[in-house]
Amino acid sequence: MKVRVDPGSCAGFGACLGLCPKVFKLHDDGYTVVLVDEVPAELEDAVRQAAGQCPANAISVSDDPR
Ligand code: SF4
Repeated sequence: MKVRVDPGSCAGFGACLGLCPKVFKLHDDGYTVVLVDEVPAELEDAVRQAAGQCPANAISVSDDPR
């Protein structure tokens, strides 16, 4: 699974950081960046939850076509 954050939409609320600090990190400029290229399987639920809870709808996830 892949995840991306739209830096133009992210408002730096930080909800995703609390849910999944291994994947999301707050950039010095006040928006969140993604730390991983591929989301580890054990973190997929947390990442989906973060995407659902992001107040700015800035997180999008995509499953790899296999
Ligand atoms: S929850 Fe959404 S708006 Fe808040 S820091 Fe994360 S990506 Fe940005």
